[in-house]
Amino acid sequence: MKFTEFGLNEDLLEAISYMNFEKASEIQEKAIPEIMKGHDLIGCAQTGTGKTAAFVLPTLHKIAEEKTKGINTLVVVPTRELAMQIDQQIQGLAYFTHTSSYAVYGGGDGVSWEAERRALSGGADIIIATPGRLISHMMNDYVNFSTVKHLILDEADRMLDIGFYDDIVNIISKLPKDRQSLMFSATMAPKIRKLAKEILKSPIEINLAVSKPAAGVTQKVYLANESQKTPLVKDILADKDNFKSIIIFCSTKKKVEQLTRVLKNKRYSVAGVSSDYEQEIREKVLLSFRARTTRIVVATDVLSRGIDIKDINLVINYDVPNDPEDYVHRIGRTARAETKGLAITFVNEDDMRKFQRIEEFIEIQMEKLQPPEHLGPGPQWMQASPKNIRNGKRPWSKNKPGFKGKKGNAPRHQKPSPKK
Ligand code: ADP
Ligand code: MG
Repeated sequence: MKFTEFGLNEDLLEAISYMNFEKASEIQEKAIPEIMKGHDLIGCAQTGTGKTAAFVLPTLHKIAEEKTKGINTLVVVPTRELAMQIDQQIQGLAYFTHTSSYAVYGGGDGVSWEAERRALSGGADIIIATPGRLISHMMNDYVNFSTVKHLILDEADRMLDIGFYDDIVNIISKLPKDRQSLMFSATMAPKIRKLAKEILKSPIEINLAVSKPAAGVTQKVYLANESQKTPLVKDILADKDNFKSIIIFCSTKKKVEQLTRVLKNKRYSVAGVSSDYEQEIREKVLLSFRARTTRIVVATDVLSRGIDIKDINLVINYDVPNDPEDYVHRIGRTARAETKGLAITFVNEDDMRKFQRIEEFIEIQMEKLQPPEHLGPGPQWMQASPKNIRNGKRPWSKNKPGFKGKKGNAPRHQKPSPKK
């Protein structure tokens, strides 16, 4: 479907064509008309499918047509990075209109507080904010939400994961009751439904969440012992000179630290990102990664959701992510907007069970590769089948005390404490 078919404001159509959006994505095609009609809506579609424009375009359309005064739209998002990214997309799409937006996330200095204060006093049409920072401002009486007509919660699932539920409810309680509310999420988890029920009025539900990685991603799996992982990374990188943007996900901050150091010593252009790093440094790294000045980013999962970085050529899961959804999100970093990408996951003995859950989730069985010969053999793949479990074959937990064979033989590590 072409964007011209939505009846959007001319100035927006011009911006869309400048941004080289040719046709609307599926979520856009379904959500934009409903939002324009004024319905509440919950939109669920995987990462990289264009959810931002799906809510930004109809919102900008209304602001342009109605020439509203004061803050018209509040967008609440889980992270600063996402707030900035949405602000940028709004500025792009609103370029030919006279709509203003401001991202409220706190830069940590008095200057940003003042500018945010002005925006929140009614100086911007659209506010994009993280919950914590917004609540700090809302303690003051200059925040003027009396004109708010639209509330948007983006990455609602992520916000709940982080524990923003109470903050969200608190913020919403201060908004005019007569408003349109929209929620976007990558998944339709039960807690999302619950939140939707609480804050949306007879919402339209659009659910495109296929838990499948975007087409165009080649997925590879290496069975590797922990000690083989770093040499394997070096090996993989050695013949990938043409891969300009690479992300490596590790399960711990310490591994991020170590692997970054190893690759730096190998003279790769690399930077680490984890919650240990200052916000400012994280932002700098992301900027230089986007600009392709930094070629490799090693990160914990702070980066795995939401942040839009185009054309990542390669994602390496140094460790298997805990949550199958996270696997999909991570490899969704490659092959965005239908380009090709490569995703490689290292599976050690302990992670086989976890990886099997991912395969069940995405309904794909992958070929398990052994590391190249000079690194020695990796562990053997063992399916966690009922038969294997019955026979005590559980190599993925071999080193851990566990039950061997029949029920009832489980060694007790802790005596039940006597009831008083
Ligand atoms: P999501 O929020 O669903 O993860 P985004 O809204 O961040 O996805 O969009 C992902 C990328 O796709 C962005 O770079 C955006 O500019 C681009 N994009 C969005 N809609 C279109 C479209 N209709 N045509 C081409 N590119 C698009
Ligand atoms: Mg998004």
